[in-house]
Amino acid sequence: MFDTLDRQPPDALLAVIGMHRADPRPDKIDVGVGVYRDETGTTPVMGAVKAAEARLLSEQVSKSYLGAEGDQTFTDSLAHVALGEALAADSRITGIQTPGGTGALRLAAELLARTERRPTVWVGAPTWPNHAPIFGEAGLRVASHGYFDAARGDLDFNLFVDGLTGAQPGDVVLLHGCCHNPTGTAFDAAQWQQLATMVVARGLVPLVDLAYQGLGRGLAEDAAGMRALLTAAPEALVAYSCDKNFALYRERVGALWVQAPSPAVAVPVRETLLVLARSLWSMPPDHGAAAVREILSDAALSADWQAELTGMCERINALRLALGQAHPALAPIARQQGLFALLPIDRGAVRQLRERHAIYMPDSGRINIAGLRHETVAPFIDALAPHLP
Ligand code: PLP
Repeated sequence: MFDTLDRQPPDALLAVIGMHRADPRPDKIDVGVGVYRDETGTTPVMGAVKAAEARLLSEQVSKSYLGAEGDQTFTDSLAHVALGEALAADSRITGIQTPGGTGALRLAAELLARTERRPTVWVGAPTWPNHAPIFGEAGLRVASHGYFDAARGDLDFNLFVDGLTGAQPGDVVLLHGCCHNPTGTAFDAAQWQQLATMVVARGLVPLVDLAYQGLGRGLAEDAAGMRALLTAAPEALVAYSCDKNFALYRERVGALWVQAPSPAVAVPVRETLLVLARSLWSMPPDHGAAAVREILSDAALSADWQAELTGMCERINALRLALGQAHPALAPIARQQGLFALLPIDRGAVRQLRERHAIYMPDSGRINIAGLRHETVAPFIDALAPHLP
């Protein structure tokens, strides 16, 4: 049976991680891996998470099964953070816990594949490399459209709108809620409004991937565009990850919300989500979500979490400013947000940076800003400058 299977290409980012690990040079720089790092180069467990975990350890009385919806108190508390008060109370919206943002996206894909319409999913190019496979593996057609002006290193809204000309009513448009991976670009408030008008006029269904809330401009600011969109659109989906903004990565914490056109339609939507989740993973892992639930249900822990998240966000934005001011070709980085930026360099330059300067990033030239420290910005720029336009 198995001899019919083809070999698969290795994960490009894992190869970069492996090369960085094997490099003995002490001044090596890893801007490849997509996790937050602090000034010491580590990805710490957040203080509020540690405190919540200590509480779980002493107070949790059972690890008996939950249902396919996971921890509903977690999802409902998170809805206030992600969706805001008005949408969190909207009975057209139903949500369940998922194994990370990836699980939320996959569950969304399976739900869409179950509908009669079986929509095409439109993704911007470039996007997170896992987006197209997630929808493709669920049997959906994936179409890509432009939005990024590589020469200017910035979002081109007209290109975005033109790229969606071929989208049919009922098709799904995947949007990054904030902190775009890999370009760092973001719609401004006016563009979100235009987007909302377009989606409604053309009968498109937005699927917002919100994986970095709080790491761009702030918790409320990073969700404002998505909330405006949900308020306007009759149907929408939100795939959420807590793995970056609570630094819970391997614990796999996320949620999927689906906005149905009416509370009555939200009922079969929810039932279908539960049936699908049961066959995909039965129920999501509990520990990370339980820690988030503890944090969100305690004002002091919540304040600690928000303060630490704000500190992470400020560190990223300070590094963005330093990079943006260091070279004219990097100026867009200071205007953009989140962990990622796409450098205007080719594969040859990426290889030279790796071989000559021990600077590691994938061939696409995507960098994780938080992989830098303030003291490594100057050597990074020195090495990079000869390759910039
Ligand atoms: N969406 C985007 C845009 C991402 O960059 C990532 C992770 O890198 C995810 C979703 C998935 O996050 P998680 O680790 O929670 O599955």
